[in-house]
Amino acid sequence: MELKTVDSFDFKEKRALIRVDFNVPLDKQYNITDDSRIRGALPTILKIIKDGGSVVLMSHLGRPLKKLKEDGTIDYNKFSLGHTVKHISELLGLTVQFATDCIGADAFAASAALKPGQILLLENLRFYKEEEKGDAAFAEKLSKHGDVYVNDAFGTAHRAHASTTIVANYYTAEHKMFGYLMASEIKNADKVILETQRPFTAILGGAKVSDKILIIENLIEKADNIIIGGGMAYTFFKAQGGHIGSSLVEDERLDTAKEVLAKAAAKGCKIHLPVDSLVADKFAADAQTQSCDSANIPDGWMGLDIAEKGIADFRAVVLQSKTILWNGPMGVFEMEAFQKGTIAIAKAVAEATKGGAFSLVGGGDSVAAVYQFGLADQVSYVSTGGGALLEYFEGKELPGIKAIRG
Ligand code: AMP
Repeated sequence: MELKTVDSFDFKEKRALIRVDFNVPLDKQYNITDDSRIRGALPTILKIIKDGGSVVLMSHLGRPLKKLKEDGTIDYNKFSLGHTVKHISELLGLTVQFATDCIGADAFAASAALKPGQILLLENLRFYKEEEKGDAAFAEKLSKHGDVYVNDAFGTAHRAHASTTIVANYYTAEHKMFGYLMASEIKNADKVILETQRPFTAILGGAKVSDKILIIENLIEKADNIIIGGGMAYTFFKAQGGHIGSSLVEDERLDTAKEVLAKAAAKGCKIHLPVDSLVADKFAADAQTQSCDSANIPDGWMGLDIAEKGIADFRAVVLQSKTILWNGPMGVFEMEAFQKGTIAIAKAVAEATKGGAFSLVGGGDSVAAVYQFGLADQVSYVSTGGGALLEYFEGKELPGIKAIRG
């Protein structure tokens, strides 16, 4: 479906209220340690300014109402978006004004006074409980900041919060649209799921089956292959009667794992598990290690990465794929001793991409891995969405997208 973006609108003398995702990591001195989310929103902001419009930016930063100070009060300084203003101004090459509240009288005075070409950033939306509750009165107030509503925050599109979803109710269809980042996230995800070139291989890793079960169930219907690596593979081995030593396992998910295997077989979707593992005698960077059969791990040892045969099998599947979705590492890649499997898969995905496959990497840890191994520019698309991307591939309609697309 065609997506309505900021390209379809002339912002001359209009004020755009843009929901961005400036939920960036900050160090103890409040320096931004990764500004990719801010960079991702720049094209949308610049298009509106170039048209002769003005911009009101709104975002959340962290979870101020969940991470209270010891005395039980909100840490307004720690969670202030004010820490980001200087850096955003530098990236844009324009001065960004800051309102120390998002719905106070000062904020409305500042947004009302904006002239074409000017930009205002509102303070953290999550200082108000109404934001996460999707409160209508709060959303209506936010809507007064702009003539047009633009959503460019894919990372929060799975939440029906006031600023991501409810606010759209206060705009006509002509006056709400997607920013470029959001549109490209949707377009690339749709390339995987709606314009699938076959074979389609989904690579799923990470710690827990329970986090990935819905995506596995949905992908069984769509993918030709599902590669399962990382800690969650051991629940599948145990479910099939394997001996997994002290590897990560979710005993309450053994039946689920069996059902997944049966359902995949019935649907003709091949599930690939790592035949061997790099096992360790403790969960530590300096552990003793050895390779062994993943279904026959000695007592006291745990699988922390996939090993040679597993890597070779996975690589072969990836290289013959035309569409690849990757979410989750193959092992405990944060420790050098257990990153070989994740590196090998990242390289295989890059190689398949070079050969013409479309590859999308998404979800915190696999994104961190492709950046860490210098391969981010060798895959087709790296998503900024964690939970939102997973929910998209679980087959759910994201409220932030529906609010605009209808
Ligand atoms: P997730 O957030 O579910 O994608 O999981 C990512 C985390 O899973 C990373 O921190 C990895 O270190 C961890 N992980 C991957 N493989 C294993 C494993 N075999 N055992 C324990 N943890 C693992």
